[in-house]
Amino acid sequence: METMNVQKKSLEFDPNLYRQDFPILNTIVHGKPLVYFDNAATTQKPRMVIEQIVDYYQGMNANVHRAIHYLGEKATVAFEEARKKVAKFINAPSARQIVFTRGTTEAINLVATAWGEKFIGQDDEIILTEMEHHSNLIPWQLLAQKVGAKLRFIPFTPNGALDFEAFEKILNNKTRLISLTYMSNVFGTINPIKRIVRMAKDRGIPVLLDGAQSVPHLPTDVQQLDCDFLAFSGHKMLGPTGIGVLYAKMHHWENMNPYQGGGEMIQSVWLDRATWNEIPYKFEAGTPNIAGAIALGAAIDYLSKIGMEKITLFEQELTTYALNKLADLKGIVIYGNAAERGGVISFNLGDVHPHDLSHFLDQQGIAVRAGHHCAQPIMRKLDIAATTRASFYFYNTFEEIDYFVEQLKEAIEFFTP
Ligand code: PMP
Repeated sequence: METMNVQKKSLEFDPNLYRQDFPILNTIVHGKPLVYFDNAATTQKPRMVIEQIVDYYQGMNANVHRAIHYLGEKATVAFEEARKKVAKFINAPSARQIVFTRGTTEAINLVATAWGEKFIGQDDEIILTEMEHHSNLIPWQLLAQKVGAKLRFIPFTPNGALDFEAFEKILNNKTRLISLTYMSNVFGTINPIKRIVRMAKDRGIPVLLDGAQSVPHLPTDVQQLDCDFLAFSGHKMLGPTGIGVLYAKMHHWENMNPYQGGGEMIQSVWLDRATWNEIPYKFEAGTPNIAGAIALGAAIDYLSKIGMEKITLFEQELTTYALNKLADLKGIVIYGNAAERGGVISFNLGDVHPHDLSHFLDQQGIAVRAGHHCAQPIMRKLDIAATTRASFYFYNTFEEIDYFVEQLKEAIEFFTP
């Protein structure tokens, strides 16, 4: 394939305008400038987000919702402001529909426990896909074992897309929930969510979206998507670790059992019983990650200022550029080439173990991921132990991809003389 004429500069977007906001991107690794291509695992943080955490602890640290004093008020206002920012970012009808969690994992566990244990029973079926991250698999395995439900799976095709013919066959009147990833963290596939939701709605089946990889990279509108639940993580979208979000339609929040018990989630408590606080507090037991939520708000401000449409488009340019260049390299096998895809590229170089390859790249300053990417069922189906994964964000550049490809050529020389 001829690659030389591929656009090497975006006409719309200059990542260098943003790179200066990310102090860590100046790191020198083994004498080489850092090339950070592990964004699907976690993204780097701009100065504004880091400073927000410091500002919180220096200027407003207090517990939220309880204290009737200056700092308590200030922290509560900032915390609730962050909830509003999240709601606006995903176009939720109300901030009350936003519950802060530790991340995607906890958000999905919340649904499996508080909603699943109430609405899914013996012989009911839950549809997942074969391309789920373990955090959208294990909570449903645990639930299925507890209530006697059955898990069904939409298979993926050789190019890493969902097999709709097979999906139609497993949809039936026992299906109680469809829970799937919006974007695969292994193949990069962007699943056709609107089509899936339409098929589910025709049968009155709720849909949960694992948005861990999609919300940071694509504009998200929960009303347009018409999903019932959306889970995502702050740390994959410039925010800190330990903060995430569960959005749900209001009637689901109203019908759900509490998830965890403790302070904040109650209204009145007796020794033998209690009544619950209003939504969303009913689902936020204990002191929340206040600094994390406020810093996630700062991350959302940062992303919104750039514009999610622009981010999506630029990442598509980067990904197409990288895929074209990788296609020329002998011995590189890429897993997944769905028509709709984001900036996640999983590959192998012959029989070279991904750990060896990523170690080689690390010596050149390049951070990629090697492993099963918390999706062991994908590896089993592909009959491989692991892959190497490069994943991009808007602060990556075409020059970094050029360097990455040059170093891969060196690796090919080194490992396959
Ligand atoms: N789902 C997908 C698709 C992911 O990529 C990840 C993170 N790798 C998760 C869920 C879990 O996210 P977290 O660890 O932040 O809870």
